[in-house]
Amino acid sequence: RMRKKQQVSILGAGLVGSLLAVLFQKRGYTVQIFERRSDMRLASMSAGKSINLAMSMRGWAGLQKAGLEEDIRSIAIPMYGRELHQANGETIFQAYGKNNEAIYSVSRGELNKKLMSLAESCGAKIHFNHRIHQVDIDSNEIQFDVEFKDEKQTYSNHDLIIGADGAFSALRNAYVKKDRYNYSQHYIGHGYKELVIPPDENGDFRIKKEALHIWPRRNFMLIALPNTDHSFTCTLFLPFEGVESFEQLKTPADVRRFFEIHFPDTLSLIPNLESDFFQNPTSSLVTVRCFPWIHEDKNLLIGDAAHAIVPFYGQGMNAGFEDCRILAELLDETENPDWHELLKKYQHKRKINGDAVADLALQNFIEMRDKVADPEFLRRKFIEKELGKLFPEIFNSVYEMVAFSHTSYSEAIRSQHAQDILLNKVMQSGDFQTNLNNPSFQESLKNWMQEYHEAIQNIQASL
Ligand code: FAD
Repeated sequence: RMRKKQQVSILGAGLVGSLLAVLFQKRGYTVQIFERRSDMRLASMSAGKSINLAMSMRGWAGLQKAGLEEDIRSIAIPMYGRELHQANGETIFQAYGKNNEAIYSVSRGELNKKLMSLAESCGAKIHFNHRIHQVDIDSNEIQFDVEFKDEKQTYSNHDLIIGADGAFSALRNAYVKKDRYNYSQHYIGHGYKELVIPPDENGDFRIKKEALHIWPRRNFMLIALPNTDHSFTCTLFLPFEGVESFEQLKTPADVRRFFEIHFPDTLSLIPNLESDFFQNPTSSLVTVRCFPWIHEDKNLLIGDAAHAIVPFYGQGMNAGFEDCRILAELLDETENPDWHELLKKYQHKRKINGDAVADLALQNFIEMRDKVADPEFLRRKFIEKELGKLFPEIFNSVYEMVAFSHTSYSEAIRSQHAQDILLNKVMQSGDFQTNLNNPSFQESLKNWMQEYHEAIQNIQASL
């Protein structure tokens, strides 16, 4: 049966665009994807170039909706917590959840390839080497860059355009030119560079496999996530300028000295430190906020195109997959939707959460690089887990809400203040485990939990 909107064009065959193509094809739409890059499935990946992402519950839910969950589980490595590498070489393991939950390290390339293949097997057509130059948001005409002379340079046979073309979206660029369009882009002062911990001489992981490793050093940090080939991909987050910064690391000797001072235990793990450092780019980190995300019933933004965020909560892709799942649920509500209404609902549900996850991600940078090494912070994390076990119906830490639940990002961030009040009271009362045997503390704790519960209910009612 023909629908009011049959032809759907998705810009970008990245993680979000490919997943979305599956979801639309499965609902009977005809999907074309336009992708700037060539087909990554045809290129052989050079060794040591695997880049990974942390997938948590929201990401899995999006994959499940497309029927891809099992496929990706088989290439995902669980990370049950943070392995903190202190400046003195000691390590501390800090579990993420109270019930042995994990976030999962997944190869970005493998995930994207599988999603593209699935999109094609569902009937979507991917046009590679099609860089979108411009979109007319009223006529829905797309113009491509002229370098692909053998292909058509404009395309207009579509009813709906979805901009899944990432942080520098061409569709969003067209929105920005409109009157009363709200847009901001903010680069943090830090950049990042990827380095590799290869497998050891026996082909094994050189450090603990099932953890996300962090070397927190206050204003900067190094992290490492495991890969299925037993290597780790490391990322150094460092200011661009200043005393300790990329700007100061000009020669191989500078780099080695910097690592000797701040990350001495990694020197034996990263054999190609200097060559990795100077071969790999120093990349920047941006937060993009914009509104609206939709134009009439004609086109919309999704994923990073709508909300590019910094990577410190490991939620960018997860948030994009959640956008996809919510949009698919709206499609399932009616057979032949009023598209303007549907898009308005999508925007209403997601914009507030895009803003919230952007803020959570910025906050978590400070937590990861600085607070995680602080004993008071570790004590708080311990108490949070205990409270979650004692009051499972009432208390879930903000981290657990974000990574291990479908609680909205906006509820999670708004719960933070109430959690701070609660945790301050508990922590100021002395040693938590000793106190648990004290009846008057038990009584106070019950009251504080009740107050916390009411605060959360108020937040839920306001959303
Ligand atoms: P993209 O993945 O950027 O895909 C956009 C696609 O559009 C690309 O294929 C691109 O080639 C194409 N495109 C762009 N412009 C055009 C054009 N003009 N014409 C045609 N095609 C175009 N998220 C997590 O959930 N967990 C993590 O652990 C995590 N770690 C991260 C670490 C780093 C260092 C960074 C930078 C990000 C991280 N993210 C993480 C975020 C995650 O990478 C993004 O949120 C996710 O890739 C967004 O998917 P997308 O499909 O919206 O955009």
